[in-house]
Amino acid sequence: MEKRSDNWKIEHACPQCSAPVLLEDTDRILSCPFCRVKLFISTDSHFRYFIPPKMESSDELIMIPYWRFRGMHFSVRLPKTDSRVVDATIQGYVSSSLPLSLGVRPQAVKLRFLLPEMKRHFYLPELSFREVMPVIEKRLLQIETINFNKRMKAVELMSDLVFYRTFIGETSSLIYLPARMDGNTMIDQVSGSPLSGTGPSGELSFTKYRDWRLDFLPLLCPDCGWDLDGERQSLALVCPNCSTLWMGSGGNLKKVPYAIIEKRTDSTYLPFWRVRAEIEGARLDTFADLVRFSNLPRVIQPEWEGKRLHIWIPAFKLQPRAFLAAIRKATITQLPTGPEGNLSKKRILPLTLPEEDIEACIRLFMTEAAIPKKRFLPTLSDIRTGISEREIVLVPFKDGRQEFIQEDMHLTIGKNLLRFGRNI
Ligand SMILES: [Zn+2]
Ligand SMILES: [Zn+2]
Repeated sequence: MEKRSDNWKIEHACPQCSAPVLLEDTDRILSCPFCRVKLFISTDSHFRYFIPPKMESSDELIMIPYWRFRGMHFSVRLPKTDSRVVDATIQGYVSSSLPLSLGVRPQAVKLRFLLPEMKRHFYLPELSFREVMPVIEKRLLQIETINFNKRMKAVELMSDLVFYRTFIGETSSLIYLPARMDGNTMIDQVSGSPLSGTGPSGELSFTKYRDWRLDFLPLLCPDCGWDLDGERQSLALVCPNCSTLWMGSGGNLKKVPYAIIEKRTDSTYLPFWRVRAEIEGARLDTFADLVRFSNLPRVIQPEWEGKRLHIWIPAFKLQPRAFLAAIRKATITQLPTGPEGNLSKKRILPLTLPEEDIEACIRLFMTEAAIPKKRFLPTLSDIRTGISEREIVLVPFKDGRQEFIQEDMHLTIGKNLLRFGRNI
């Protein structure tokens, strides 16, 4: 279940010229090789796909939902946090008579977006991703426990307590597997084989096709009409003409505030979320608080007591350990930010970490920065966090041969780790 897979392919007719375009599931920009149109793909919920049936059938199909998710998974325990990349599918409709996961199947076929032309079929209702998550974690935990028993002596079991678990940078989508009833047996309409041990159809409850929002938005700046720039996986688009930043929201592009730290012209800019967190139950309001919280080897200057602390979170996915290190280093540095600036001719790497993950990142930062952890981690469940300010900061990095370097943050990010992160 943890094997990393190649990106899944989705076939979709170009909204402008109808030619078939092949997308990867991490793509947020549809770029048609035939008519050259570029469109931003936006949804308000999860993307929904189906595996096209191979078997000819005039009947209505039964569509079985599976959740597909991938992201960085962190388990915080003493003395250290374990992290891994998870990429898996799991039943959305819980039934012991249906396969628990889709297996490797989606890599071998081209998926399609689930659109209203699939309305006539019958749908098994899915649990929400939130409800399915504990099942996923339980499976992860089983794996961890087995490894653990092999490695450690029983007397050390106490230290295996997990204080916090979270998925970050998680992409979740629904994939429907088409099936058909043949007597009492449910037949998979992709492979043609029966789905194991299916009971009579009377036990299943169905729901109707539900409309979900899928928009293809022109890559034009809503303010000045100029072509927007963005790499295919980026959640944010840049207008090089009026130097604005845009993200998808409710079927439109929404302008988002940002700051830029101007550096030499040959820099590459990486996006960070700079966040003001409201934390109840731990003192992390000023830079002086952070020095105490992390027991940093510095003499607290009086002005630090008034310097408001911001948490800096990489707005891109990365190999999980490198991601943790980057949150810590960027936050300890507290770089001064400038105003919005000139974005023309700047190389800006894609923003791939959605705003929804910020809160979990704040908790993760605290678990990583707290010294001693032994005292802090048991209090974590009593701590409440909120976000009062957030903005995107474009941070200049020196472009090395194999890494990007941010000298002020003492942060080096291997290009291979970043490439790896783009496929998470
Ligand atoms: Zn086209
Ligand atoms: Zn513009």
